[in-house]
Amino acid sequence: MEKYDAIIIGGGPAGYTAGIYLARAARNVLLFEGVPGGQAGTTDLIENYPGFPEGISGADLMEKFKHQAVKFGLKIKDGMVDSVEVREGKKIVKVREQEYVADALVIATGADANKLGVPGEEEYRGRGVSYCATCDGAFFKNVPIVVVGGGDSAVKEAVYLTQFGSKVYIVHRRDKLRAEKANQEMAFKNEKIEFVWNSVVEEIIGDKLGVTGVRIRNVKTGETKVIDAEGVFIYVGVTPNTAFLGDLVEKDEKGYIITNENMETNIPGIYAAGDCRKKLLYQVATAVGDAATAAWAAEEYLERLEAGQEV
Ligand SMILES: Cc1cc2nc3c(=O)[nH]c(=O)nc-3n(C[C@H](O)[C@H](O)[C@H](O)COP(=O)(O)OP(=O)(O)OC[C@H]3O[C@@H](n4cnc5c(N)ncnc54)[C@H](O)[C@@H]3O)c2cc1C
Repeated sequence: MEKYDAIIIGGGPAGYTAGIYLARAARNVLLFEGVPGGQAGTTDLIENYPGFPEGISGADLMEKFKHQAVKFGLKIKDGMVDSVEVREGKKIVKVREQEYVADALVIATGADANKLGVPGEEEYRGRGVSYCATCDGAFFKNVPIVVVGGGDSAVKEAVYLTQFGSKVYIVHRRDKLRAEKANQEMAFKNEKIEFVWNSVVEEIIGDKLGVTGVRIRNVKTGETKVIDAEGVFIYVGVTPNTAFLGDLVEKDEKGYIITNENMETNIPGIYAAGDCRKKLLYQVATAVGDAATAAWAAEEYLERLEAGQEV
């Protein structure tokens, strides 16, 4: 069985950052990558990560993160971790029937936006279809935008998008919102927002350049129509990638890992960072901050362990 000081699960901004810190501390550390670059690696342009005033493509930024981590000695293996267990304080990570053991573990497995599963959604992803208004809203200046969903994320992001779009339609399958009252009021007061009630998206339509419209169906009348739009933001929930952990660490009802401010989970020596943990803001900058803290806390844990101190 291969042995390491620390294992990191996830090859997004949080995973690579934890790798930079732990490898630079001269630890023997292995990262399981999953999809290289994570969610950040899938986005065309990141304009709000400090240090890149002209913006940078997500793929280029993630390549730089990875390069920096490897330079300090991070070992990377591809593959999805199937499960994790703790035996006598050791963290056992299972990948394709192989076991790897470490004293400390950083979970940085991120999250995936729930999909609508309609035609055009995958095809126009990154060319009009987005799951992140903070990230992509500014690309849709003075054009109509459709937001899909009726919860807090949908409503808050729709209000945010009104600073860019000429008009923002909120398409919701019911006749009332699930969002908090304060968020609802903000949306109702905003003259740029139009609600399209009792309606579901049937298809996202486009051409060579990107999205041109959204075909919707009224679930009460069965009537269909096309809303002209160049941006479609989908907020029908996000699922953190934590199911493979089972009940190993404490999670909230949605599956987000609960940590303290040092990124410690309820299990000594196991840390969580980035979009897989419960927190306020899900961005590259916060993933990086979480991961630096998690790696630092893991390093202190390893030092206590080596000194024979209580962990
Ligand atoms: C389209 C889009 C655009 C965005 N634009 C911006 C932006 O402009 N600015 C910004 O700050 N943020 C942006 N974000 C948000 C940002 O990408 C995330 O907050 C950030 O990537 C979270 O980093 P993370 O490392 O926690 O998780 P992720 O990036 O989700 O990475 C998780 C990694 O873990 C891997 N993984 C999952 N399960 C396993 C497993 N069982 N075993 C091994 N590996 C596993 C995944 O394959 C992936 O490599 C955007 C998100 C999207 C979807």
